[in-house]
Amino acid sequence: MKIVHVSAHYPRWQQTLGGWRPRLWQIVVRVESDTGVVGYGYGGGGEAALAIVNGHFQELLEGRSVENVGDIQTIWDDLYFASIPYGRRGVGIMALSGVDLALWDMLGKATERPVYDLLGGLQRPQVRAYATGSDPEWFAQLGFNAYKFSHRWTGDPTGYDTAIAAAETARHHLGDHALVMADCYLSWDAAVTLEMARRLAPYNLYWFEDVLTPDHLAEQAEVRPLIKPVQLAGGEHEFTQFGFGEVARSGALDIWQPDVTWCGGITATVRICQLAQESGAKVILHRGGEVWGLHLIAAGLCDDMGELVLGHRKAQPEQLWLGAPQAIDGYLPVSDTPGLGVRPNQEMVPGLG
Ligand SMILES: [Mg+2]
Repeated sequence: MKIVHVSAHYPRWQQTLGGWRPRLWQIVVRVESDTGVVGYGYGGGGEAALAIVNGHFQELLEGRSVENVGDIQTIWDDLYFASIPYGRRGVGIMALSGVDLALWDMLGKATERPVYDLLGGLQRPQVRAYATGSDPEWFAQLGFNAYKFSHRWTGDPTGYDTAIAAAETARHHLGDHALVMADCYLSWDAAVTLEMARRLAPYNLYWFEDVLTPDHLAEQAEVRPLIKPVQLAGGEHEFTQFGFGEVARSGALDIWQPDVTWCGGITATVRICQLAQESGAKVILHRGGEVWGLHLIAAGLCDDMGELVLGHRKAQPEQLWLGAPQAIDGYLPVSDTPGLGVRPNQEMVPGLG
């Protein structure tokens, strides 16, 4: 089949996330073939990414042939090369991610195979989910046995106390055997990380996430062996196999956390997983419990943990993607629907067609 139409759309997001989400949050990419098959993908970069897909990638894609996974890989390489002057990391790759995922969805639908099947076949019919948010009591009631809380260091030493309180609450609700993780969203530094490892030792945390920025690989490599048995995790703001090549060479992280909708789509994530395997690192995908990552986990290409960002019991998430599997007792069933198995909510994406 040949690609005949490509378009990127910005959903009507109602909820804001910090200052940037109103205009720079996730996008939907639609790819249509001459056989009438339509694939949908999810990318990042907001209105800036729309300009890249609709103003550049579209003309490079229309007329291209997609018959197999190798064709998608070739297209990825061509789009990456064509976008090098403004791309390589960040918004350019977030835009490419949306295109890539739409192509995998389209190929799956055309061949009547779920994407995990295109990735080598089903290894895990269900995936262990972990809940990210601030309501461990609710997560325990829902049956989760893995939970991640968020913490921010603001320069005030009471930050140690708030971290201890969060860890204590987590253990209180989830028990001693659950996995508990902390995400500090780039707000700690090496000294804070070492002190946190000491003070949080009684709570047996599995990993510390994003203790420093992605530009501080050497500092993380230094700290990593000093906080064992806590694992050092990060990578949601890293891109492509080339970016993770730097992570591999630095030895900065035990656990790599690429985001499939930002780092270059499934094509890039498969390459990142191969690199991690060669480097002895684990891959636990950022937001991996969403379908974009779920197929990779189900195919056994990375670790068996899928993140679900649930917030708290009163949260009212916006339902952009319909048909996504819901966690049951802390596990996500994997659907055998052809393609990625979700469709966009047309009310949130007017004019999608
Ligand atoms: Mg994070």
